[in-house]
Amino acid sequence: MDKNLVLKKLPKVDEVLNSTQIQELTEKYNKSMLTNAVRESIEDVRLMLLKLLEKGNFVFEKDEDDLKKHVISLSITKLSKSPYSLKKVINATGVVLHTNLGRAPLPKKAIDRILDTASGYCNLEYDLEKGARGERYSHVNKLVADITGAQDALVVNNNAGAVFLCLSALAQDKEVVISRGQLVEIGGSFRIPDVMAQSGAHLVEVGTTNRTHIEDYEKAINENTALLLKVHTSNFQIRGFTSEVGKQELKTLARMHNIPVMEDLGSGVLVDLGHYGISEEPTVMDSVKADIDIITFSGDKLLGGPQAGIIIGKQKYVSKIKKHPLTRALRIDKLTLAALEQVLMFYRDDMLEEIPILQMLSRPIDVMERQAQEVAEKLKKVIGENGSVSIVDDESQVGGGSLPGEEFPTKAVAINIKGLSPDELSKRLRASRIPVIGRIKNERYLLDMRTISTSAINDIVEMVGDVL
Ligand SMILES: *Cc1c(COP(=O)(O)O)cnc(C)c1O
Repeated sequence: MDKNLVLKKLPKVDEVLNSTQIQELTEKYNKSMLTNAVRESIEDVRLMLLKLLEKGNFVFEKDEDDLKKHVISLSITKLSKSPYSLKKVINATGVVLHTNLGRAPLPKKAIDRILDTASGYCNLEYDLEKGARGERYSHVNKLVADITGAQDALVVNNNAGAVFLCLSALAQDKEVVISRGQLVEIGGSFRIPDVMAQSGAHLVEVGTTNRTHIEDYEKAINENTALLLKVHTSNFQIRGFTSEVGKQELKTLARMHNIPVMEDLGSGVLVDLGHYGISEEPTVMDSVKADIDIITFSGDKLLGGPQAGIIIGKQKYVSKIKKHPLTRALRIDKLTLAALEQVLMFYRDDMLEEIPILQMLSRPIDVMERQAQEVAEKLKKVIGENGSVSIVDDESQVGGGSLPGEEFPTKAVAINIKGLSPDELSKRLRASRIPVIGRIKNERYLLDMRTISTSAINDIVEMVGDVL
């Protein structure tokens, strides 16, 4: 079949733009949006035709009208998709703190605080009492102190920044002693040895990968030692013949030598997670009680707030950190502060039910079972003869480099569509108007109920319907 003859059948841009279906959309979309969608759709169809022609044994049956209809429907699909690059997705992976999907969703009231703060002016760095310049951190440091018992606090862009800043401010050109078992890498670009080098601190590694003793630290201390550093091995576990020095013991040693101890806690746990059926995680309060001098943690991991790096500790170190030029470079913005203040208030006032990630982590299995039944029933209606739907028992994860190896029993809905591999189904759902991100396990496409809110159910059903 002659290639040019086939391609000649493609409609012209104007022809599609003048069709009644597209003309009906002129109120909703402007001229250039319509033109772009139509252009792209014609190009998509052209490529599809070329592909079919390449396959050889292609017999061309479609006439101009069919192609035009196809271009129109493709254009409408394109237009109905979000024009934004950064957009809402449905997390059906069951990974509660999915770093690629934005970690912790914020509590509704924290979002209200962002709106309120963003819509006008605020006293970000203004002392209302004195009518003079105030401190950005004043909005959260009292709260943090009330919750954790720490003397002082400051908040920066994220925990990686917090660690970098503390090392730069407290240990530049000096030695920092750390156990070999704690030289972690978090998500590829954050590696303790690299951060240390960048900050100008000299890494002194002690002990071995699996065992480090207090004498190892003791032997390493000299007049150049600025800090003893403890890093939470967030995203991995060492099992078997292991030994770590506890924070209390480390602090006792440090005190004898008049050196501060810093701890990077990773996830900032402010409650006993045991209440949530989650295995024990060290809390921020444990570290304050152990008299650790400087503690850093994330705002958007197990704390369930916005992206932030929270630094708490003894006033003398925190004020030194506040004065470092990097503090300005890493400073937190007002919208994040507004959300963080609200989330911290929930902890102070014991209103943890307001925090979505704690809700998801503690979702009762029967609640997820009932939701799975509802989703499965609705999906069966749209899928009908085109495939099958079932409810399966599975495990979800915390994610965000927190609680590795910890798995929570969950309920998932497995979807099978005739003629579509799980990979292909996954790809199509990712490309839908509201992208749905599920997971594939044992050749099955799964929607994990743990991370799916009730309000997302109808959207999921609609997106699966669209795929069909
Ligand atoms: C996650 C983590 C970090 C990085 O925190 P971000 O908030 O992602 O910047 C640093 N240290 C530890 C131990 C972590 O778990």
